[in-house]
Amino acid sequence: MISQHTIQQIQSRIDIIEIVGDFVKLKKRGANYMGLCPFHNEKSPSFTVSPSKEIYKCFGCGKSGNTISFLMEHEKYSYVEALRWLANRYQVEVEETETSPEFKQLQQVADSLYIINGFAQKYFAEQLFSSEEGEDIAISYLKERGFREDIVRKFQIGYCLQQRDAFSKAAVAAQFNPELLVKTGLVVQREESLVDNYRGRIIFPIHNNTGKVIGFGARIIGKKRPGAKVYQHSRK
Ligand SMILES: [Zn+2]
Repeated sequence: MISQHTIQQIQSRIDIIEIVGDFVKLKKRGANYMGLCPFHNEKSPSFTVSPSKEIYKCFGCGKSGNTISFLMEHEKYSYVEALRWLANRYQVEVEETETSPEFKQLQQVADSLYIINGFAQKYFAEQLFSSEEGEDIAISYLKERGFREDIVRKFQIGYCLQQRDAFSKAAVAAQFNPELLVKTGLVVQREESLVDNYRGRIIFPIHNNTGKVIGFGARIIGKKRPGAKVYQHSRK
């Protein structure tokens, strides 16, 4: 494991303009820098880098983050690989700390949970946009609340079907371990079967600062009653 001291040293040297500028041609515009977005095809620049906030953001496709998440996204590095790349770039000596087997195991579980959460986020977003129920109930609800489609996509909002186990089935079919699925909180074990915990809810993913989905918020919207434009909702 890379020591906290090394991480701090790397972080204190990071210059986002320099690093992003290695991959994207940037031009200064006011306090920010602009360039053609490396994450989607475009002819006029909507990719902005803020040196003061140390973040990038694309107003075309919505991708955003800091220097480390840029390297992870652009170069497909893991968090640790991005740190090593930066250490090399800034000639920071990497100090390693010993990891215990217990820590390693915890780390593996955490990594698996990130992977499941990433899968779940994509699954729920797909249900929101591509299922009849998602369109009829969830999208109309979000629209009524003033969420534009680009905002819904940018925040990767999704929808969990009202069915008992639609997500559980999809996750098991994708070979995810049932025990880990329960650990995410998205699924509960009822006797022999797995049941979706967020049935009939709008799903809001929560990201950490490297862009990984670390959890979900959910809001129940209930069934649409025929002839009435009233939705029941409460915080979960
Ligand atoms: Zn973009």
